[in-house]
Formats: sequence, structure tokens, C-alpha cells
Amino acid sequence: METAEVLIIGGGIVGSSIAYHLTAAGCKDVLVIERESAQGKGSTGKSMGGVRAQFSTPVNIQMSLYSIPFYAGFEERLGHPCGYRPQGYLFCATSDAHLKYLQANYEKQVSLGLKDVRLISADEIRGNFPQLRGDDIIGGSLCASDGFVDPYSAMIGFMTWAGDHGAKLWKNTTVAGIQRDACGIVAVETSRGVIATRKVVNCAGAWAASVARMVGIDLPVEPLRRMLVPTEPFDDFPHSAPMIIDMSNGFHFRPEGRGFLLAWNDPEETPGYKTDFEPAFIEKILTRAADRVPIFENLAVNPKRAWAGLYEMTPDHHPILGTVSGVPGFFLANGFSGHGVMHAPATGKILADTILDGKTDLIDASLLSFSRFAEGRMIEETAVL
Ligand SMILES: Cc1cc2nc3c(=O)[nH]c(=O)nc-3n(C[C@H](O)[C@H](O)[C@H](O)COP(=O)(O)OP(=O)(O)OC[C@H]3O[C@@H](n4cnc5c(N)ncnc54)[C@H](O)[C@@H]3O)c2cc1C
Repeated sequence: METAEVLIIGGGIVGSSIAYHLTAAGCKDVLVIERESAQGKGSTGKSMGGVRAQFSTPVNIQMSLYSIPFYAGFEERLGHPCGYRPQGYLFCATSDAHLKYLQANYEKQVSLGLKDVRLISADEIRGNFPQLRGDDIIGGSLCASDGFVDPYSAMIGFMTWAGDHGAKLWKNTTVAGIQRDACGIVAVETSRGVIATRKVVNCAGAWAASVARMVGIDLPVEPLRRMLVPTEPFDDFPHSAPMIIDMSNGFHFRPEGRGFLLAWNDPEETPGYKTDFEPAFIEKILTRAADRVPIFENLAVNPKRAWAGLYEMTPDHHPILGTVSGVPGFFLANGFSGHGVMHAPATGKILADTILDGKTDLIDASLLSFSRFAEGRMIEETAVL
């Protein structure tokens, strides 16, 4: 029978980062199981690639304080590019409540050691980006080291390094069951046979709840469709721009290639495994785009290039990381609520620490434990895009 010291279910960016961090810490016998014929067919290949430290909760800020410098040094460390571009995230406030919110977040971010974030005046925003409709913008916040990565390239970089150092990746292999005895996990049933292992990590993204059910756990992770619209080449807005967020309605956009990538989270979207792009979304997003950037009225988009993917939502918009009481050997790395690319490096470190040493110094892991739901210790993140 095949064996693995640690078996990771799901070869997206999270499973790949954990495989990297485990092998880098000396654990060579790692097996990643991916049901698709190629990596990245889950949420990772659909992501917008935004990375930011501008969050509202200390634990999310701490996850970014590990992850963004990690991405900055990715190529040097792993010998593979991740496409990190520190072009910033600019939040544009249009009400006093937004400004107070950004001010409070700014203070938390600075107190935790974030150096590049600053509050920015409305005049400076209007001066830097005269293309924005600025009459209702009253200020904002900007963090220069926030920016973008290429999620696919980062995922491949993690997995390639792990593979070069002993880890294995099985594609076209589906996990169908998990066997346990009184001491914990004993084996994983896959479409390629049973694999003996004592340690299993659930990295199944938006499908994490179905994997958790294999050990009798009701994991509160729900799929939620998100849609992105890339534009045709457009040179009348600077391609050096940051991710710009219109706080009045959540519309945001960033440069991508010679055009822009437009995003807006439709509040009418309902949970479910919906991965079709909805053509009616184009008009909804272009209305918001032209409202904030009047010259975007001239934007051309090709609906065939637009796409949809799944966020993996938890009730408090924070991931669920670590052990599960009553199921020794079963670890969770799920529920990133739209932040799994930017927090993949920290997640890899936290899970490798937890699996190999039983603890981590990176964050207070109890904050993100599965038990927080049963114990009523949820920590709401409101800076969700
Ligand atoms: C439109 C969109 C925009 C986004 N923008 C951002 C962004 O700007 N920044 C950011 O940080 N995040 C963003 N995200 C979220 C981010 O993409 C996810 O949080 C992240 O990719 C999750 O990675 P993962 O490895 O956990 O999941 P996935 O990439 O979905 O990987 C899970 C893998 O598990 C496999 N799997 C599932 N069940 C089984 C099974 N039973 N057996 C074997 N394999 C299985 C799947 O095939 C899949 O490949 C965005 C997401 C979407 C959809």
C-alpha cells in the first residue's frame, strides 16, 4: 500500500504552499492529491491576484505581514517568479463612516508593524488620478506594498519547489473517503487506491465541506460565485495604478496587461456551485465603472473573456486553520473568503508549524480554529472585497 507522512487534499495554491512549507521544514514525505488533470482549475486559476495588508482585524493583517514580504522574495527563495507587483491598494472613502473606518484600520495596521500604509487626502487622490470622478471622494488610504501576484505562477512555484525536494503530486486522483481508528486517521481512499497516512490536510477550497464530511465534521464553508471582467487594451488610465476601490459600492479595478480587470461583488449573489459567467453582469459592472471613472464609458469588453469562480465563504470571513478536536491527524486550511491567494504563504507556514511542532508563533492560532464557531468566538472581517 502507498504511504505518506502527510497527505494534502487539493493542489490549489493553499495545498501547494503547505507542501512547500512542509518540505522546506524537512518533511519530505508529502503527497498532494488533486482530482483535476491540472492544478489551478479550482479558485486559484480564477483569482484576481490582489494582495493587501489593509485589513481590519489584527490576525488578517498579521497573515499579510508574513505573506506579502514572502511574495516579494519569492523568486529569490523558490527560483520561480510569482509576478508580485507592488502597485498598491487605494481605498477611496465617500462618507465620514468610511474615513473613520480607514483611520481605525490604519492605526491597527501601523501598530502591528505595517510601514507602507498611509492615509491620503481627497486632493491627492484627485491629483494622482484626475480620471476618477472625485466630487464625493473625501479621503482614503493607500498601502504601497499591497499589489498583485500571478496566482497560477505562485502555485506552480510552490509545488515545483516541493516536488524538487521530495513531495509528490498526483493529478487526476479524487479523494472519496477517509478511514479512521480510535487513534485518528489511518488511510485515505482515492480513485488510485488506498493510501496509508496518519496526517491529512483539507485544502479542498470551495469543496472543503464535502471533504470534512468524510470525517463527520460540519464545516461552515460555502461556495459563492464571483465574476471578473477584463477589458480590451485601454491607455487613457495609467497602467501603473494601484487596485482602486470605490467604497461607495465596492466596485474595484486594477491594471491587467494592456487593459484593466474590473470587479464588483453583486450583493444579490447567492451561495452555490455556480461557475457560469452571467452575461447580465457586464452591464451592471460597466455602469459602476463609468460612474467612478467617466472615461470608462469608452471601455470595450469581450464577454467571452470574462469569467466566474468561487469564493469559499465562512460566517466571519476568516479562514479556518489547524486541528479539529476529536479527529487527531486531520488539519484544516479552508474558508479564505476571497483571500486565499494573498494568505497562502502564511497559511503554509502556520499549517507546517502546526503539523510538525503542534504550534505556531506566526499568529494566535486559536483565533482561526474550527472550535471558534461552537464557542461563539467569531471575529468579523469587514474589509472583504
Ligand atoms: C473571481 C475571484 C477573484 C479572487 N480574487 C482574489 C484576490 O484578489 N486575492 C486573493 O487572495 N484571493 C482571491 N480569490 C480567492 C482565491 O482565489 C482563493 O481563496 C484561493 O484560490 C483558494 O485556494 P485553495 O487552494 O484553497 O482552493 P482551490 O484553488 O480551489 O484548490 C482546491 C483544489 O482542491 C481540489 N479538490 C477538491 N475536492 C477534491 C477531492 N475530493 N479530491 C481531490 N481534489 C479535490 C480541487 O480540484 C481544487 O483544485 C478570488 C477568487 C475568485 C473566484
